[in-house]
Amino acid sequence: MEFSDRLVIRSKPYPNESLIGYLIRITELNHYDEMSWVAHLAGLQLSGMRPNDWVAKLGELAKIVGQPVSELRSLASYLVTEGNHSHSTLRSDETISRFLIRWPTSKICFQCVDEFGYVSTLADLKFVTHCPHHGARLIDQCPKCGISVRFNRAKVSPCNCSKVVGPLPSSASEARLGLMKLLSNKFQGTEFDLSPYCFSAALGNGGPNQALGAISLMIAIGDNQIDLSGKVANRVSFEEFDASVERVANALVGWPNGFFKFVDELCRQRGKGQRAFSLSGYLGKFYSGLQQHADQVPFLWEGLQLYIERSLKTTIVTKRGNPTLLKGKEDRWFLPRVVACRRLGVGRNELHRLVWAGYLEGGYGATSYGEMFCVTRESVDKYRGLKKHLIGRREVARMLGISIGTLYGLVEAGCIQEVHSPRKDRCRDWYFDMRSITELVTQFENLVSKKKTHQASDAISLKSAISRYNKQGLSYSRILDGIRNKELRLYRFDNSSMGFLRWGVDADELRSWYGQIYVTELSPSTCPEQLG
Ligand SMILES: [Zn+2]
Ligand SMILES: [Zn+2]
Repeated sequence: MEFSDRLVIRSKPYPNESLIGYLIRITELNHYDEMSWVAHLAGLQLSGMRPNDWVAKLGELAKIVGQPVSELRSLASYLVTEGNHSHSTLRSDETISRFLIRWPTSKICFQCVDEFGYVSTLADLKFVTHCPHHGARLIDQCPKCGISVRFNRAKVSPCNCSKVVGPLPSSASEARLGLMKLLSNKFQGTEFDLSPYCFSAALGNGGPNQALGAISLMIAIGDNQIDLSGKVANRVSFEEFDASVERVANALVGWPNGFFKFVDELCRQRGKGQRAFSLSGYLGKFYSGLQQHADQVPFLWEGLQLYIERSLKTTIVTKRGNPTLLKGKEDRWFLPRVVACRRLGVGRNELHRLVWAGYLEGGYGATSYGEMFCVTRESVDKYRGLKKHLIGRREVARMLGISIGTLYGLVEAGCIQEVHSPRKDRCRDWYFDMRSITELVTQFENLVSKKKTHQASDAISLKSAISRYNKQGLSYSRILDGIRNKELRLYRFDNSSMGFLRWGVDADELRSWYGQIYVTELSPSTCPEQLG
């Protein structure tokens, strides 16, 4: 190479200078008319620029600009594709997908170029849509004079507009500006303060690949695809891509609430209704994709689990079909009406009555099978457990050795509680929990006195005790209260009978107990002698 091929005025590249921008700056410093002249010296064309051609000529370029080849290699590190050309290497030696690199790009921040005097390499990163310093959109045409940003120019600044009339309008939202600063810190080692944006700590501390992978994945899932390489993001139109980056920015700032909104929106697009929430229907792909790539984007995987946890607490969740949560049909949280009816052995109307009465929890909800009435499995299991013990009023009366009328009296007095009845929950019949009836019997059995009545003939059955004082208002509930309160002793009467027929009271004790009550409480004017 002739000495005359080398440029007279030399300048070291800036640490984050773009390779093409550097050549333009060298062109300007040497007062050449066009950058192509420098490129041609190295045997490079400005049309159909291919990264590999440029990498191959780095040695030539280094000689022309009078810099060590290592300097230029450092500027162009990510142009070197690896393996099957699917990856590029950053200066930090990290490898990223080549789909994340946009090269060559003529998009610049007009203000940066004026202010710093060189073109940053950050614009070569696909997801960088705005300048992290100024918030201005990266553009390839001046919005004021309309001049296009060409590679083959003589000056770093394509025009003088921003110098003349001051800063161009900023157009990035706060969230987008935050994301751009994050990418700049990861990609270029800048130290923008990210604390106002409240990114996930794991994202803030992680490498560039986690950030880029997360953005790729979140853009791709909008298209119902899983992709961390930026390939899917490359296929969409610019408007779509730009809107996606905005969505992702809003999802990543204000962690994790921004992300929750992002996932909410994702579910809404997949037809999520008000009440039910099908993990598999709305998030199945996102869930399995994230799970598969959890080691690459750990903060995102964690965020999705937080979201699901939150959903479990606040909405109806159906687990059916979920790749990891599903252990079989038994694990469903919600049962469709037809399954619940079968499981409970009830009809449709009865099921709705049970929901209305509060025994079952459920309602209409959108599921992956469309709108349907569902009840929670938990409430079905719980009611099924109760239903096993339900017995009718006749059975209860027989167990207690009393008439149906007496049973009503005991219910009325609160001695016995029914589970279902026409008055309580519009059930067509009365049903009691056998366990509570058995418990009542046991309770009184334990109160049976160990002593005998002083004369066997003095023991009378509860039934005859009540009929003896019935006119004076003695009832089963009254006498049971007295026994429970230890005012009156209970004796064994007929062990072969059932329920209340087993027990009796002492006639004398009854007279003195009820006589007192009758005199003092019920009817003070009546003489106790008249009671007998
Ligand atoms: Zn800027
Ligand atoms: Zn201009």
